[in-house]
Amino acid sequence: LTTRLPAVGTTVFTRMSALAVQHGAVNLGQGFPDFACEPKLVDMVTEAMKAGFNQYPLLAGAPVLRQAIVDKIAAIYGHQYDVNSEITVTSGATQALTTTILCCVHPGDEVIVIEPAYDSYLPAIELAGGVPVLVQMEVGADGYSVPWDKLTRAVTPKTRLIVVNTPHNPTGSVLRAADMQALADIVRGTNILILSDEVYEHMVYDGERHESMSRYPELAARSFVVSSFGKTYHVTGWKVGYVAAPAPLMVEFRKVHQYNVFTTNTPMQHGIASYMADPKPYLELPAFYQRKRDLFRDGLQGSRFELLPADGTYFQCVRYDAISSQSEAEFAEWLTSEIKVAAIPVSAFYRQGKESGIVRFCFAKKDETLALALERLARV
Ligand code: PMP
Ligand code: GLN
Repeated sequence: LTTRLPAVGTTVFTRMSALAVQHGAVNLGQGFPDFACEPKLVDMVTEAMKAGFNQYPLLAGAPVLRQAIVDKIAAIYGHQYDVNSEITVTSGATQALTTTILCCVHPGDEVIVIEPAYDSYLPAIELAGGVPVLVQMEVGADGYSVPWDKLTRAVTPKTRLIVVNTPHNPTGSVLRAADMQALADIVRGTNILILSDEVYEHMVYDGERHESMSRYPELAARSFVVSSFGKTYHVTGWKVGYVAAPAPLMVEFRKVHQYNVFTTNTPMQHGIASYMADPKPYLELPAFYQRKRDLFRDGLQGSRFELLPADGTYFQCVRYDAISSQSEAEFAEWLTSEIKVAAIPVSAFYRQGKESGIVRFCFAKKDETLALALERLARV
């Protein structure tokens, strides 16, 4: 069989998690919490199953969950999506991202992707026959930023879609109002669409606000906005997310969704809808993770790791050039096998494997886990 995805192997997350298990390392590599979600959430899903919510839901998802999503977006970002025609519940954000790309990218269309980029974007673009156009973030003393001038120059008449991710995996950077204006200036007067990966929307720190596309009517009018309950409610294994988009875009999304998964498991949707009635869990998330971020950062002060800013997500990037001149992959493997703390090389988020001397740690871990990792990292 001739492969359709020649550049694809096993993901770095799977490889580093396997290596962590093999070496008994603390796994700060793959991004997932090592603590449980609130028991109430599990109870609500169980109750939904017992109440008989076990057959196919509507293609777009359970109406109660779509309504809860509409209400949340309206309350936080001030944009009113239509519950019937503008929200679709998906099997995690990954499916929403791939389905969006498949529904709007035609063979030969160009898709602008900002690197470092989450690993699912490029394979999806290739499956659609699209041409990825890569624009690299810049990294300086203030951390990573998007060079909008370079992105402007990457736009051509063939540009169909721009993929944006804020808060950003792996860098932990967040877009700010000025970035949103720059993006709006680029797309104004074109028919370019935006795919906005906002899975870490509730993880922005230091009192800053998340800049969702849905805050900006001009941008919302051409955006697919994607989020994930896995991140927000500490249940990455449940694989439930959603996409919000204007009705004409959603019509096309649902054509692909219908024959990709058709719909997403029913009891989780009902359980999550009940849980969403209380906004506290996501309103308290920034404080919850900011404390862990600070605990982790404080623990690395005085070490030979240089901390980059971590304004959002549950990732902390560090430079290690004072410690080693190894490639990022070699250094991450050495940390895992010898120091017994797993990390992710940021080079894995670049198509050409660009080396910056930076690795990513995930701090969505119990305090004890972070303490053990810090004790080991202090010896490096
Ligand atoms: N986008 C980004 C930036 C992510 O970090 C992740 C999770 N690792 C996803 C999408 C996928 O989310 P889900 O698990 O809901 O498919
Ligand atoms: N999004 C997670 C991360 O960045 C991993 C998801 C996965 O394993 N595919 O670590």
